[in-house]
Amino acid sequence: MIPPVTSFLLSQLTDALTEREAAGLLRRRRVLESPQGARILVDGREVVSYCSNDYLGLANHPALIEAAKSAADKAGIGSGASHLITGHHALHDSLEKALANFVGLPQALLFTTGYMANLGAVTSLVGRGDEVFADRLNHASLNDAVLLSRAEMTRFPHNDVAVLEKLLAASKAKNKLVIADAVFSMDGDIAPVQALLELCERYDSWLMLDDAHGFGVLGDKGQGILSHAGIASPRIVYMATLGKAAGVSGAFVAAQPEVIKTLIQNARTYVYTTASPPMLAGALLASLEVIEAEAWRRTHLQTLVQTLKRSLVLQRWQLAPSDTAIQPLIIGDNHEALRVSERLLERGLLVPAIRPPTVPKGTARLRISLSAAHTVEDVQQLAAEISALERESVGA
Ligand SMILES: *Cc1c(COP(=O)(O)O)cnc(C)c1O
Repeated sequence: MIPPVTSFLLSQLTDALTEREAAGLLRRRRVLESPQGARILVDGREVVSYCSNDYLGLANHPALIEAAKSAADKAGIGSGASHLITGHHALHDSLEKALANFVGLPQALLFTTGYMANLGAVTSLVGRGDEVFADRLNHASLNDAVLLSRAEMTRFPHNDVAVLEKLLAASKAKNKLVIADAVFSMDGDIAPVQALLELCERYDSWLMLDDAHGFGVLGDKGQGILSHAGIASPRIVYMATLGKAAGVSGAFVAAQPEVIKTLIQNARTYVYTTASPPMLAGALLASLEVIEAEAWRRTHLQTLVQTLKRSLVLQRWQLAPSDTAIQPLIIGDNHEALRVSERLLERGLLVPAIRPPTVPKGTARLRISLSAAHTVEDVQQLAAEISALERESVGA
């Protein structure tokens, strides 16, 4: 028999899960049985997928796979230790130098995930008595990082530099840090980074940019937001992930040498964790080459964005203003968004419905993620199906 205390602990969880399910908010996982790509095999059926972050179609690129295999042959599978013990392989080291060079900053530091990079960077730069100014739509990992740092967290309305200026002017904090997603993950719009940097210079604040959705995609060669916006400053702390457009896994922070040296000493998500397998660094070195050399992937992605915008014929639903691979179709009502997503799936198109609390109330949406792996015909078909579904629902 289960002792009563245990059964109480478990029944609390069951109640909370049942409540979630009743509200239609229970998260479920799908099982992917193919490589990531435009066409995937998921839960036993083949669909065209509009829900990966594989924006350049590199997650199954032969050059990356070959590089990973050959790195595994030379370096083995496991890194065996943290970076500060014996886990820092020459492949990690080469990758850090290549990444810093690519984004145009003096030094870079690899992290195992973007979540860990954000936690490590923020907690190393600010603490009690400091103040962090965070865009309201920032990624959850940035918010968690600020909480963990114990700095005061002040959120400003999305992209509102006028409010941010007032907040910075009023701040008495010893150190200030402004943080924003460079490309917002649920809206696809780009932060006003020049204006943010000007404010940071005027009020002597760090500027941290999370370029998870810009790295590889923005800039002539895919160097990301800094190149796209033409900004540079020693107060910029740049972070990007390597599991999205770069097609592999991991993340890095790039900044002045003083910042990187500080992270190596203080970032607990760097110090107290096993280095990622060196073969991934090998794959990422190949990924950087492809990102830089195959500009057609970015051009094609832009063509797809324009195709989607041109091909949708809508009255009520509308695309949020975005020129990136993330194209949110705002539907509004939670149930309707879910229904549209289900109807698209019946037609073999996988487009996730995103509902509150992930996005603000009344803005339930389809989050359409485009990838260079899609064809123009794919996107035309998607637009036609969505337009037809709206017409049906208007008629109903
Ligand atoms: C995905 C994402 C992260 C987390 O990166 P992982 O490598 O997946 O842990 C951080 N910030 C933003 C904006 C992201 O979209």
